Amino acid sequence: TPSESVKQKTVISVQEAEQKIAERLVPFTNETVPIESASGRVLAESLQADRDLPPFNRSTFDGIAVSSRAVAAGQRTFPIAGTAYAGAPKTKLENTSDCVEIMTGAPVPDNADCVVKVEDLAIENGVATLSENALPTSGYGIHPQGSDMPSGQVALQSGCRLTAKELSVAASIGKTQLAVAKAPRISIVTTGDELVAVSETPEPHQIRRSNDLALDVALATAGYSRTERHHIPDDPAATEAAVERILEQSDIVILAGGVSKGKRDYLPAALENAGVEKAFQWVRQRPGKPLWFGNIQTNGQTRYVFALPGNPVSCFTCLHRYTIPALDALSGLPPAAPRYAKLDSSFEFKPPIALFLPVTLRNDESGQTWAQPLPFNTSGDYVSVARTQGFIELPESETEFPQGAPYRFHSWQT
Ligand code: AMP
Ligand code: MG
Repeated sequence: TPSESVKQKTVISVQEAEQKIAERLVPFTNETVPIESASGRVLAESLQADRDLPPFNRSTFDGIAVSSRAVAAGQRTFPIAGTAYAGAPKTKLENTSDCVEIMTGAPVPDNADCVVKVEDLAIENGVATLSENALPTSGYGIHPQGSDMPSGQVALQSGCRLTAKELSVAASIGKTQLAVAKAPRISIVTTGDELVAVSETPEPHQIRRSNDLALDVALATAGYSRTERHHIPDDPAATEAAVERILEQSDIVILAGGVSKGKRDYLPAALENAGVEKAFQWVRQRPGKPLWFGNIQTNGQTRYVFALPGNPVSCFTCLHRYTIPALDALSGLPPAAPRYAKLDSSFEFKPPIALFLPVTLRNDESGQTWAQPLPFNTSGDYVSVARTQGFIELPESETEFPQGAPYRFHSWQT
């Protein structure tokens, strides 16, 4: 019937878009990788301490290990009965009126319960004398066995991004192999006949391609570096063929451009023809209104498609607002705690849609974070965006945004 060809355009809110994405996400499966190549991956198991941390009563000074009772009883000089080195097995203080010379990191000998540091001692002819102000009590100078973490406790929770500090914990408990979320194969696809490579000299009507590099670098910064780049000309047959081919080899497809209502925006039809199930297109937001999201199940695998508007600021904003959080959720990371910044100057925005406003941040001496909006230009002004740290999200329910009011802040640098 003729009415079938008149398609109703449904425009949803930012929150509905987030929700519709979240509903479709099926967490990535896991794989095991050597600890040396686990940097930046998301841990998919909890790691338990395999022994007490520290594993023995560890001396925190170079000095002598003594009995605090002998000191409390008034003894100030201690014959040196032996030496305890880091890396040597634990020894024993046979006679508690003696002492053992000890190095930082060495196991404190049995019968000794405190360490006097070398600065508080005089050592002469095999006898250590405590200086006047040295009054060590039991436990002084000792990092007790199991005080950081007893054996068997969870040292690292599943669902953390493995950076240097997490990997040092994994290393200290002897994990040579780690279960991590699979790294998704991400295809970054630009579209548009006007676009040429960075290395080319553009004709007056052409522009250099920049979105693909921006997306690639932002994804790598966020921990997703298994990417490939493609470019599709504005041609329906070429778009359909490329979409089918790229879908097959990707877990995530991020497209830029060709998704709006222009005469040569072929992506929405090509995606639907390829069997991608659209979750939504059109979000009440600026920039980024034409955002398209869907998924497809092929060969037992769910693949996700984010078709972002081509405008560089829209593209970059949508990647940070929707795509990277979705990748984090798929990888098993808990949602990041929201951040807020206060508007530095009042702002007015009448349309009943959300506004993602690029801002520079300023921290004042009272510890408050202020967001200074970019002087308003078009959403195509990606040169000015380079001077900002992220964007604040002004909700669609308001039109006046007073100075000092807090709004959610999203960083470009996740
Ligand atoms: P489109 O969404 O295809 O209508 O593109 C919107 C605007 O973004 C146009 O001015 C495009 O030239 C520009 N654009 C699209 N893709 C890119 C890209 N990869 N790099 C830079 N600009 C782009
Ligand atoms: Mg285009």
